Amino acid sequence: MTDKLRKTIDDIQLIDQHGHPGIAGYFESFPPEKRILLATDPYRSPEESSGGFPYLREVHYEAYQKIYGFSREDIDNPEKQNDLTREYDRHRHNLKHLVDKAMDAAGVEILIANSFLHDDLINKQNIKFIPSVDPFLFPFDNTYLTSRSPLNSSYIAAFEHMLDIIKVKYNFSLRNFTEYLEFIDAVLDEYVKNGVVGWKFLLACARNSYCEKVEEKEGYQLFERARKGESAAYTRLQDLLVWHIMRKSVEYKLPVQWHFSIIDPWVEYCDCLNISKMICDPIVSKARIVILHGGYPRYDHAELMALAGGLMPNNVYIDISGRIMFRNHPRILGATLRKWLEKPMLWDKIMYGSDVLWGERYIYVGSRVGRDAVYFALKSMLDDDIIDEDTAVTIARKILRENAKNLYRL
Ligand SMILES: [Zn+2]
Repeated sequence: MTDKLRKTIDDIQLIDQHGHPGIAGYFESFPPEKRILLATDPYRSPEESSGGFPYLREVHYEAYQKIYGFSREDIDNPEKQNDLTREYDRHRHNLKHLVDKAMDAAGVEILIANSFLHDDLINKQNIKFIPSVDPFLFPFDNTYLTSRSPLNSSYIAAFEHMLDIIKVKYNFSLRNFTEYLEFIDAVLDEYVKNGVVGWKFLLACARNSYCEKVEEKEGYQLFERARKGESAAYTRLQDLLVWHIMRKSVEYKLPVQWHFSIIDPWVEYCDCLNISKMICDPIVSKARIVILHGGYPRYDHAELMALAGGLMPNNVYIDISGRIMFRNHPRILGATLRKWLEKPMLWDKIMYGSDVLWGERYIYVGSRVGRDAVYFALKSMLDDDIIDEDTAVTIARKILRENAKNLYRL
């Protein structure tokens, strides 16, 4: 009876609404001290990529075979490692072709590249873009934020460099708050004109993602005090700018993706409840917010945010990319999904993403884990007689494709 569900899931052309194709290559144009530490992509064996799950190890073998033409025999042969490393690097530098090959093998129709767009992927038909708006938040001396960890410092260094690039492009110098806000608005407007389908906050990777709602009339003096090195005023200025950008997203009707997944011991920084006041605000509650990575591992908080509308569905969505996806077993992800899917309001709110990061084969790996997990979740609901097969098929289409298509207007 469930063959139809399996077949439907295997045939769906996915929309992968969160990933970082070519991220290592993107940062190669940055000075080494301005690169995000995670942005590396050397050849790694299936075993090294498996996160301890034999299932994932096998999927990486498959991906190497289908996308790179690497045989299992060669991968397992210690004498071939140098050849594979060299070949891998050659593929990596032919990014357009590599991405197409991976998307084709994975059955992905559209991939939304996130935060950083490699030059080779600009104006590519099957690639959309969601830029990081974090660089705008860090215009002054950020040394006070860099004691957290080398990873967190690398994010801040990258944001500083990105802001420098934007400022040069717009011939902008930091004169005063009013002009700074106009500059941000002008850049956001250009992003929209260039066809971005949303924007993204990586704030939790740089500092606590909780933001006080600060009135814009405070901006002028906060800007001046922040410029002089007053960190409390600087934090408040950042909060103000985040709320400002959230209001711009309402104006442009563009979804905003928020990173919420632990990256280090500063766990409270990455809790999605930090932005819960936004969904109560008369204006910003109209913003369509995507909780990235299911709030890993605080899935219940992501659920709370998405359900928080009560009888009136709110505008919060849940993305299932990242460690919940590519460092997970589909049975485990399936169980997480099932818990969410037991609330029908969430059927329209969960969206597939790979979070491709350490090599383009993750486009394929995510697609396998994602399809299997959605199948296991829905199959178990079918087996328990909670839903019928047609409903299961509809939900599968929503998670793997339709919800993202509607949200990002693809
Ligand atoms: Zn990501």
